[in-house]
Amino acid sequence: MTDKKRTVSVAVIGAGAGGIMAAIKLREAGVAKVRVFEKEHDLGGTWRDNTYPGLICDIPSHLYRFSFAPNPEWSRTFSPGSEIHDYIRKVAQDNAAEEMITYDSEVTRLEYVGGSGGGSVSKKWRLTTTQGYQGEFDIVLSAVGILHHPVYPEIEGLDRFAGDCFHSARWDHSVSLDSKRIGIIGTGSTAVQIVGAIVDDVDKLSLFQRTPQWVLGVPNQSYTDEEKTRYREHPEEMQREYDGLAQTLNHGFAAAVVGENDEALAAMQNGCQQNLDDNIHDADLKARLTPDYSAGCKRLIVSDAFYPAISKPNAELVTESITRIEPEGVRTADGRLHELDVLVLATGFDPHRFLGDCEVVGLGGATLADAWSQGNYAYKTICVPGFPNLFFLGGPNSPIGNFSYLLTAETQYRYVEKLIDLIRDRALDEVNPKSDVTAQYNESLKRAMAGTVWASGCQSWYFDRFGNVASWPWTFARFEEELSQPQLEDFQAA
Ligand code: NAP
Repeated sequence: MTDKKRTVSVAVIGAGAGGIMAAIKLREAGVAKVRVFEKEHDLGGTWRDNTYPGLICDIPSHLYRFSFAPNPEWSRTFSPGSEIHDYIRKVAQDNAAEEMITYDSEVTRLEYVGGSGGGSVSKKWRLTTTQGYQGEFDIVLSAVGILHHPVYPEIEGLDRFAGDCFHSARWDHSVSLDSKRIGIIGTGSTAVQIVGAIVDDVDKLSLFQRTPQWVLGVPNQSYTDEEKTRYREHPEEMQREYDGLAQTLNHGFAAAVVGENDEALAAMQNGCQQNLDDNIHDADLKARLTPDYSAGCKRLIVSDAFYPAISKPNAELVTESITRIEPEGVRTADGRLHELDVLVLATGFDPHRFLGDCEVVGLGGATLADAWSQGNYAYKTICVPGFPNLFFLGGPNSPIGNFSYLLTAETQYRYVEKLIDLIRDRALDEVNPKSDVTAQYNESLKRAMAGTVWASGCQSWYFDRFGNVASWPWTFARFEEELSQPQLEDFQAA
């Protein structure tokens, strides 16, 4: 059976969690040639880039793992970023994934060209990186991640600040914060975590808030040695822990944000309000920290440290808007100059760029940039008409705010593997979704988005520049179902 299969080559873009998992699984599936192109000098994606103080993952640790590599060693309910980076590195090492990775090679161009035919598919993706031409591949799998293009705020005078200034995802560890005056712009998950981690070490902390956020105060407990031993010796108990967490997250939180579990949404709202009531006793501060939109509209923040930290005498919540940055600090609309030694830009990421820095030329010379000029779209988050045999993990409308990305990526990978099997088994030469089917799918996706909490009246990074929410508007069960089996009739016959 196997020797009748076509031999195919796959280029994976990105050696983050998704790319590493895909490379391991592709090789396991018998794909003869798998090469991973990574733009940086190390693997780990977002867990390599983000090293700021206080970095943790707000998805519970035992849920944030690959299905094939459960980890009894997680230290806490929510793991520190460095521990997750180590975990990904270990999975790569244990599965000899490193040998498939070409580092320092950003993919700058992909062109779908006629190939030599023979035993393989007749067309190929010609791939070029910053190191030059790298060869032709039958299939390209983009695993470039979502939250990794830092957004720098456009504030007058930013380049004239005399102190140290850096984005939270480019933390400058050569700069000591001890006993200094620190400013942080932004109040997303990142800023909240930094505030809790540094407030006791600095002289003065000024947090510049444009919009308040709802914060759920879940404690971050350590796993005891006994618990770790139990998980090591009884993996079925670790699996039970996973199942319980998956049930809570996927059928509670994830269903709540897409309008499928009103009870869970109300519980989330009440939990956030309770956290605020219990921890903020100053009426003025409380008013300024209270959002005017529903919990979950912006990505929910999980922290039991933020409110106590922002209430400390050396911390100040600045809610006057920023007028400009001056060499000495930040000038706000009330005319006040907030003098600073260090300015941290916790201003988030552009999750809509995908292969934005790569020129992708598909069938008939069409470019992906043109195809996406009115907004990114895909067929079931995975592939785009006119760009055959190019697949995405974490592609357009992936459930970026709903579930663990690792779970999402594995679900998408399993589907991609089935598409690749169609090519290997000679059922299709090209996997190219039909335009009309893709358009219909995206229409229903947009309609469903109106019923989600993200569209209920706030601004967030879920929105693209055209005002569309770019996430998954349905349940996790629907995500799994949609990606369970390729519908051959949805693809061009080739
Ligand atoms: P974010 O949620 O996009 O927050 C950016 C913050 O910067 C917002 O408060 C925004 O204000 C503010 N901002 C942006 N431009 C500004 C400007 N010109 N002036 C003033 N304020 C400005 O970014 P993030 O905190 O880095 O988090 C991004 C996502 O990464 C999270 O939602 C989460 O999914 C992920 N993340 C996860 C973890 C984790 O624990 N797993 C940790 C960190 C991050 P507005 O609200 O007014 O726009």
